[in-house]
Amino acid sequence: MIKQELEALKTKGQLRKIPDIQSKSDGKIVIAGKEYINIASNDYLGLSTKDDLRKEFLVHNDSLLSTASARLLTGSSPEYKELEATVASIFNKEAALIFNTGYQCNLGVISALIGRGDVVFSDKLNHASIIDGMQLSKGDFFRYKHFDYANLEKLLESKRGQYKRALIVSESVFSMDGDIADIDKLVELKKKYNCLLMIDEAHAFCAAGKTLAGISYGKDVDIITATFGKAVGSFGAFCVSNKDIISYLINKARSFIFSTSIPPLNIAWSNWLLTEKKDFILYQKQKLTDLTASVHKLLDDRGFKTPSMSHIIPIVIGSNENTLKLSEKLRSEGYYIPAIRPPTVPEGTSRLRISLTADCRLDDFVRLLDIINDRLFV
Ligand code: PMP
Repeated sequence: MIKQELEALKTKGQLRKIPDIQSKSDGKIVIAGKEYINIASNDYLGLSTKDDLRKEFLVHNDSLLSTASARLLTGSSPEYKELEATVASIFNKEAALIFNTGYQCNLGVISALIGRGDVVFSDKLNHASIIDGMQLSKGDFFRYKHFDYANLEKLLESKRGQYKRALIVSESVFSMDGDIADIDKLVELKKKYNCLLMIDEAHAFCAAGKTLAGISYGKDVDIITATFGKAVGSFGAFCVSNKDIISYLINKARSFIFSTSIPPLNIAWSNWLLTEKKDFILYQKQKLTDLTASVHKLLDDRGFKTPSMSHIIPIVIGSNENTLKLSEKLRSEGYYIPAIRPPTVPEGTSRLRISLTADCRLDDFVRLLDIINDRLFV
């Protein structure tokens, strides 16, 4: 049975394998002995592979490599308090709570806040961690069409009254399309229909928006989640909100309560980057913003249509087979850009997900787009 299901995945072009990655450094990746330009990383500022940064940090830091416990038992430490204060201040919120991963964060926050008799309204293209959080919760959920706020309002009009607590959830920069939610509209709807609003800033934190806090900074968003594992070049995630909600999560979020916390060394690394290296983060973020504008111009000049409004740019191909073929072709030309297939994206929308990072060279994209252009339009 399992064998047959694996065969079926293979036939559909959806069997996944872990790539044999040997090393990564400034925008490059070595796989099975060959070096490629890495167009697939969420390390948007390139911080995770900067040797000089890592060495400088380690000279001054000897935090522990394990907490050997969940936070509520013996797994907390001063590093945690410091990082929580740092992110609360970046987002201008009362309090923060660190989770082990973004997946566990969304899962824990949604399943804690939404119980029997409650409801979630979620953008159809929200990340798997949000979907799984809704499924784990004891409440009901409705998925509105991506960015279709008229559809969301219709659902709110007809369903909101039947429930106690209601939560609207959206990503800010969407992970697979790079388009950006209309936060003002979501705030308007949450107020009109008495809901809580939760925004996942995973792909915007330190990468998009005017400040380090992503897209929804300064807007009336109740709960923001984001990760340290992308632009911050570290590991882990967090939720920022008011003191009551954070207290509630400490008591109710099972993925927080029942899991050994992240090693303090890693927590200290996130905090060091966000405080001591803030200027460098801002510098890299500006490089990313400039590169993003230049690549979007290249796309426009070549007539590429894309929903992207950010550093994440999908080239939607459609079938798994054609996407895999193009990914292979690009690999033979020196680019690592794996095919993104269902269930990560909806059926029939398999794609290459270009992920811009601060240290990428514009020239590499000129050549990349030429290759894609030749393939798609012959
Ligand atoms: N939210 C979004 C929008 C994501 O794209 C991801 C990961 N790709 C996560 C949450 C999960 O974050 P983590 O990798 O830290 O579990």
